[in-house]
Amino acid sequence: MARKFFVGGNFKMNGTLSSVKEIVDNLNKAQLDSSVETVIAPPALYLLLVREQAKKEIGVAAQNVFDKPNGAFTGEISVSQLKDSGIDWVILGHSERRTILAESDQTVASKTKYATENGVSVIWCCGESLEQREAGKTLEVIAAQLSALKAQISDWSKIVIAYEPIWAIGTGKVATTEQAQEVHASIRDWLAKEVSQTVSDETRILYGGSVSEKNCKELSKEKDIDGFLVGGASLKPAFVDIINCKA
Ligand code: PGA
Repeated sequence: MARKFFVGGNFKMNGTLSSVKEIVDNLNKAQLDSSVETVIAPPALYLLLVREQAKKEIGVAAQNVFDKPNGAFTGEISVSQLKDSGIDWVILGHSERRTILAESDQTVASKTKYATENGVSVIWCCGESLEQREAGKTLEVIAAQLSALKAQISDWSKIVIAYEPIWAIGTGKVATTEQAQEVHASIRDWLAKEVSQTVSDETRILYGGSVSEKNCKELSKEKDIDGFLVGGASLKPAFVDIINCKA
């Protein structure tokens, strides 16, 4: 089964009401490649606005969710609240949450399990730091992150994996196509060995880290790169060129 190309836009903690509306207007007006699944992730405060204003073929993702039913969890948002608001996706395990907000592999896996079991799909992120890459530990680090996920997940059909080397995020230092392909292929091998051949064949593996309209075309040609998770460039009109990079 062919894997549908996927482009996610992670706005992070950026934007205002008017700039978010402008981004959505721009996407609504653009001719987006219909063979690409596009999902944008605005800050929580703007999720409803974006869901109401974005055209239907654009999916909307939260940037975090809690792994408990509604209740006394000040400051958190539940999976059922996302669903109630028409939000079908959530980004989990982003390195900024793992490092700045101290989310462990187990917490990320638990949130992923809770979201997927309750009907919200997950863009699950993994990736190594520069020190880990320089120490030759990239594949080991990613395998450990994947193992923690596997320990809690049985249904992989609602998970898209985003490989995001931490040293490439927001730095302008994009991984080379060879570096990205090598890790993507190893993730796919890991899935085949540790989960199943079907999950390995069907799971989309996105690359993230300084993706731009300039480098997306080359990256998209690699056989195990099934799309992108885009940060900074998703706030700009050129995001359309990234979505349309295969066209
Ligand atoms: P970047 O961010 O494209 O700004 O490097 C990617 C991400 O963090 O998802």
